[in-house]
Amino acid sequence: MSGWRSLSVGVVGGGIGGMSVAIALRRAGHEVTIYERSDFAGEVGASVSCAANGTRWLHEWGVDVAKGDPVVLKKLINRDWKTGEPVSVYDLDDYEERWGYVYNMFHRQYMHAMLKESALGEVGEGSPAVLKVNHKCKDIDLQTTTITFENGTSAKHDFIIGADGIGSAVRRIIGVHPAKRPADSSCLHCNVMTEDAVKAGLVDYSQDAALEYWGGQEGKWDKIVLSPCNGGKLLSYYCFFPRDQGDYTTQAWGAEDRPVEELLKPYPNLDSQVLKHLAIGKEIQPWRLWVHDPYPYIHKENVCLLGDAGHPMMPHQSQGACMAIEDAAALGIIFNTNYFDGNIKDALALYEEIRLPRATRVQAAAAKAAYNINERIGFSHNKNIATYKVEDSKKVLTIEEMNAYDMYKDIEEKLAAKRGQQYLDSFVGGLPVGLELPSGPVIKAAA
Ligand SMILES: Cc1cc2nc3c(=O)[nH]c(=O)nc-3n(C[C@H](O)[C@H](O)[C@H](O)COP(=O)(O)OP(=O)(O)OC[C@H]3O[C@@H](n4cnc5c(N)ncnc54)[C@H](O)[C@@H]3O)c2cc1C
Repeated sequence: MSGWRSLSVGVVGGGIGGMSVAIALRRAGHEVTIYERSDFAGEVGASVSCAANGTRWLHEWGVDVAKGDPVVLKKLINRDWKTGEPVSVYDLDDYEERWGYVYNMFHRQYMHAMLKESALGEVGEGSPAVLKVNHKCKDIDLQTTTITFENGTSAKHDFIIGADGIGSAVRRIIGVHPAKRPADSSCLHCNVMTEDAVKAGLVDYSQDAALEYWGGQEGKWDKIVLSPCNGGKLLSYYCFFPRDQGDYTTQAWGAEDRPVEELLKPYPNLDSQVLKHLAIGKEIQPWRLWVHDPYPYIHKENVCLLGDAGHPMMPHQSQGACMAIEDAAALGIIFNTNYFDGNIKDALALYEEIRLPRATRVQAAAAKAAYNINERIGFSHNKNIATYKVEDSKKVLTIEEMNAYDMYKDIEEKLAAKRGQQYLDSFVGGLPVGLELPSGPVIKAAA
């Protein structure tokens, strides 16, 4: 594309999204500097889902996925709260065949290290990104695109990406003030070593290679989510309960571990097998949950938001990391030699147009799945179970929408509209014309 030039890009925040966008933009020919407030010593020890819509970008970017030591998921299993019997099972046996990529379950620290190596390493396309730790963003001058840091230094770039997580400073600086409220549920996370569970004579859930859920059919906040990671050596448990039974909304991750009694207290009637796992749980940490309404915009001047900074979501669709990776992919495409014509503001406007509707749809669906597991991608297919009930069957989020989406096509369609060109491919909003969504609608050609 004529007008393309290599840019100097500042990324505020070196988490999952910050590292991902550094990979995508270095590959697109840009010079990236990442500014991280911490030195990563407190990275979270928990699992992170990376479904096919996230995994596909890791492969496209040449990330060495094996370094993340993932568990490749084979099933989603919803179990009865009291008996542990399966209520709804979504089989992922043909998942890779259908969608081209597997559903990986990573450990956050391994995933982060894997991405960091691709972002900063000598190997790979483009110039390695530069990481500056202990650089907490204080302010940004939107006119000069200059970041000032709490350590007294400053840096000027062609454009800046706020990948600084749910409590984003960049978001405040560009004038987005979230309408937010504490979630009705609380969450405690704990880790169980598979080896410890087996030694204690308990069920070896790692054998299922599944995301497993207890509860969720009853319209209650109580729910246990188990995901194996680290090649099955670690079982990561997310334990949800009503907030009035324990309020952790103001507690940061990384504070002192909570006592195991606190973890077990809300669950007198829980399946005894899983309860015994929780009883040997370690590193019990609250995960504070806030519900954010969608933001009106995610870019201003030469600054944009990415990941949780732009669309924090409840964890119940397991798509937070995937949405950050998709944001990164969008910027990598929009700023590559085929599409970027040198106008940064136009490019960021296109980024917002591509990302905000899709991410906010997942955000809304995640809030619904908090109390009704039938709204979760995958389980939303299993209509033939006695307790299946959703708010609006035509609006449920389905695996087709997530995985059949072609971001290149979406970008080309929107770019053609902006440039007054005709768009001839048989895709609408990145989905192929004729695709029948299990929720009912068929993707129709644009009028
Ligand atoms: C315990 C836990 C479990 C999770 N499990 C899942 C899961 O199973 N599936 C899933 O999809 N998602 C999960 N998530 C959410 C997922 O991790 C996030 O959605 C994803 O990491 C978003 O990436 P991000 O880069 O936007 O934010 P983060 O990864 O949170 O990174 C933000 C970074 O910005 C830095 N930062 C913040 N403020 C500043 C500042 N002012 N200046 C400089 N740097 C700053 C932070 O230190 C951090 O490194 C989980 C999150 C947590 C905490």
